[in-house]
Amino acid sequence: MQLDVRTIVWLIALSSLMTGLAMFLVAGSFPEQVRGIRRWAWACLMHALGWSLVALRGAIPDALSIVAANTLIAAATIANFHALLDFLHLRFSPRPFYAFLLVIAAALAFWTFEAPDMSARIVVMSAISAGFLGLCGTRLIFPRGRFEWPRGITQRTMILGFWGCSLAAALRLWHTLTQAPSQNLFTFNWVEGLFYGGIFIQILMLTFGFLLMCNEQIINEWKRMATFDPLTGIWNRAAIEKSGNHAFEQAKRSGAPLSVLLGDIDYFKSINDTLGHEGGDRALRLVVDTLQNFLRAGDIMGRYGGEEFLFIAPNTNALDALQLAERLRLAISQTPLENTGGAMSLTVSFGVAQLDEADSDLHALIRRADIALYRAKEQGRNRVVLSEASAPTLKKVAPFPLQSVI
Ligand code: GH3
Ligand code: MG
Ligand code: MG
Repeated sequence: MQLDVRTIVWLIALSSLMTGLAMFLVAGSFPEQVRGIRRWAWACLMHALGWSLVALRGAIPDALSIVAANTLIAAATIANFHALLDFLHLRFSPRPFYAFLLVIAAALAFWTFEAPDMSARIVVMSAISAGFLGLCGTRLIFPRGRFEWPRGITQRTMILGFWGCSLAAALRLWHTLTQAPSQNLFTFNWVEGLFYGGIFIQILMLTFGFLLMCNEQIINEWKRMATFDPLTGIWNRAAIEKSGNHAFEQAKRSGAPLSVLLGDIDYFKSINDTLGHEGGDRALRLVVDTLQNFLRAGDIMGRYGGEEFLFIAPNTNALDALQLAERLRLAISQTPLENTGGAMSLTVSFGVAQLDEADSDLHALIRRADIALYRAKEQGRNRVVLSEASAPTLKKVAPFPLQSVI
């Protein structure tokens, strides 16, 4: 069996055209923060045109089928690199690359008309592919000059994809330098057949991979939005409930204590009224910063509602939970909110409950903490109150009279 190189080159051009058009079609459905798709699609169309001109060699002038074709392919490879930088939200300055393309075009014209040398042209084009594809892989892992392990499996796979294609181009370069190449592009030989077959697969694989990376970026963003509160950066209600349910089941199974602390900022409405919504938001962030200083490994903390925070503390009995809540309350009351008109103090009330046999699920336990919180508000705010149902447990563990804690 012989591989017909011209047919493969037509396949490269056609597959680039089809993938480019498909990318244009789907580009509009991606959110704005996913960048680079349209540029990659343009790169595909440039590859398509460049490779079509290569396939027409002999039927059209060499200026088109060699010089213009290869310059277009080089430009398309640079556009691939540019699209990747867009994807990573990195800057690209095109000017040096325009100059670079002019030099490449001049060199290709020289080795076509002045001193015809196919080997020299193959070396130039292979060096460009090896260089830019290698750079693509490297930028994925060193996006800002520092090592950053990519977040998704697709990005990690694409590093290997880019480096693999770069290596293949480097091998071709080395082969051209060390072997006497055939002077007719379309005479069959295994190296050429494998090389063009490789480009066919490379274009499909890298374009498909690029789209998957864009998809992965959206999925990661959705996951982040579904887990974190955008204002404070801590877990949202759904995320704490998910982890909290797990901690609840584990505590039920093992018999280990588990406590929840529900905190609510006092008179938050008047903070909003005095400082405006922006001041209220700053107050929320300040409280979260303070709470985070007390997080221990295994603790679960998040924003439960508007100005309510839920702390789930595994392996913590009512006494320890009360002491923790008291430390949190004190720390917040001692951290003033700085404003242009002077500092303002914030206070938080806490309801605390320890897991009880009667609690059928996490919500039952949180409901008890909520009732205790309500009592803290009734009793004047800026205080910690333990759920009544948890009090007998506390009597068992407290080494001193309860009044000294509550
Ligand atoms: P209490 O001491 O009884 O808790 O009084 P409060 O004013 O804190 O109570 P309430 O729960 O009635 O008010 C909560 C306010 O929190 C109402 C709402 O406008 C405000 N709020 C909720 N979410 C946000 C937010 O994300 N940013 C800001 N600035 N305000 C918020
Ligand atoms: Mg409040
Ligand atoms: Mg509230």
